Amino acid sequence: LIAEAGLYTASDQIIILSPENVDSVLFNSSAALFVEFYATWCGHCVAFSPTWKDLARDIKEWKPAVDLAAIDCADESNRKVCTNFGITGYPSLKFFPAYSSSGSRGQDFRGFSRDVRGLRHYVINKLEMHNETWPPACPPLETASEAEIDNFFQTNSVKLLALVFESKDSYVGREVTLDLLQYENIAVRRVLDTETSLVSRFGVTDFPSCYLYNSSRHISRLKVLSEARTFYSYALQRLPGVVRTGKPQIPITDLIKNSTLQEWRPFNKTRVYMSDLESALHYSLRVELSGHVRITGEHLIALKKYISVLAKYFPGRPSVKRALNMVDNWLQEQKGTEIKYSDLRDVLDNTVQTSDAVLPEGVQWVGCQGSQPHFRGYPCGVWTLFHTLTVQAKEQSSSDPREVLQAMRSYVSSFFGCRSCATHFERMAQDSMDRVTSLSKAVLWLWSHHNQVNNRLAGELSEDPHFPKIQWPSPELCPSCHGLKKTGEHSWNQEEVLTFLQNYFSSARILTDYLQ
Ligand code: FAD
Repeated sequence: LIAEAGLYTASDQIIILSPENVDSVLFNSSAALFVEFYATWCGHCVAFSPTWKDLARDIKEWKPAVDLAAIDCADESNRKVCTNFGITGYPSLKFFPAYSSSGSRGQDFRGFSRDVRGLRHYVINKLEMHNETWPPACPPLETASEAEIDNFFQTNSVKLLALVFESKDSYVGREVTLDLLQYENIAVRRVLDTETSLVSRFGVTDFPSCYLYNSSRHISRLKVLSEARTFYSYALQRLPGVVRTGKPQIPITDLIKNSTLQEWRPFNKTRVYMSDLESALHYSLRVELSGHVRITGEHLIALKKYISVLAKYFPGRPSVKRALNMVDNWLQEQKGTEIKYSDLRDVLDNTVQTSDAVLPEGVQWVGCQGSQPHFRGYPCGVWTLFHTLTVQAKEQSSSDPREVLQAMRSYVSSFFGCRSCATHFERMAQDSMDRVTSLSKAVLWLWSHHNQVNNRLAGELSEDPHFPKIQWPSPELCPSCHGLKKTGEHSWNQEEVLTFLQNYFSSARILTDYLQ
């Protein structure tokens, strides 16, 4: 209840504090905690909440060393906690070093700007101030000396060392070190530009720049699109042999040999497959919906909207489009307040008998194949389907910019079998979907919110280790989509992203391999 009422929810990657958990979260924890004390009614807190959420997304990988929390002091049940911490104004930020003792009031945030970059640098400074209570999961953040690097592979079991060469006041090396905290077989250290002997040994001319060094003393420069944190971290996390902690990579061929999985269908990871779109249609119409024996009220409206956007924008084979049109026409004729799924099913299946209108049966995932049966498949198909539909609506210059997004929102809310997914999606829709005022914004809204979901799910058990959740499209897939702000922060070039998405999901580029 508290989570629902306040400015944050657990899906923001922020621990929601309450009288029940506050002591166990803040005291004697092996990770440091950065806490916001806020009041829901305070305008500054509302204005600051997107920054706190962005920070949580930005440093999500650092969680084992430092985590974010928040408490709503406007909630009466939290009053005593806020009073005990001496909170009188909102928002108040406090840092609790790892292993803070019970009764500690934390350290008040001072200085630094309250934007994501300033807060992130503050977190690093605070982490560095730990002495004997160093959070065990936090790798060393100090600069590396030549002697340390020379002896590195004698004293460490990792096979690869990434060195970020940079100036004293740069934070990039420490940020990348923390971004790689949950990855195995690699360590990251920063080296200052003043370490002249190392600089000349590695032949370093740019600061920052990143070099790889292995136990055979081989040196190579890390190739990236831009010399910046996001690009280094992304590239290092994907180096051969580097794996997320607890997620060993088993080659796909071995997985298939050892299981009853169907034969792997090789595919191009940079393309959309019609087989995935048709499989998503089959699963949603014949499996997901079949759980709803009678469809009434808002669910019926949701179904009509969904079928209507499919009939208008599904870029399918002519026979599939005809079938969708037949279903749409039938649904529009249903004027009552309820339909039976069995009647809808008859229409779906009758179309199959009409040779020129066919909704193919069965699923055959291609680009959405998972390396194990419980990975990917249908949810991947749902995303792919709706991205494609937003792009098709733009191609066809639809008159309603939100039509596809609203159809997706109500379909997910009424029918999507993953109920917690539906709750999360609805929350995102409530936050910002009404700000979509053009077809281009609709395409970008779905892209950016899918990326928010990717960020939240990266590293979760549901992530297929062969298809890690990334901020998509990657620098390899779309170099021009990525840019840098003056501050060195990563930025998306939204115009380029839009062009990329329109091309990627365009009907002309959809591959028809493996169609039944
Ligand atoms: P997916 O995330 O399914 O993406 C499919 C494909 O789309 C990718 O392979 C890539 O080619 C492309 N893609 C990736 N990112 C983008 C982007 N930003 N824009 C355009 N294309 C992109 N799972 C949970 O565990 N918890 C949840 O709360 C949750 N919420 C969900 C909400 C919705 C509406 C949906 C449809 C799914 C949700 N899921 C959730 C499932 C989860 O998002 C993935 O679909 C699932 O884990 C399969 O992941 P995947 O690797 O196939 O990639």
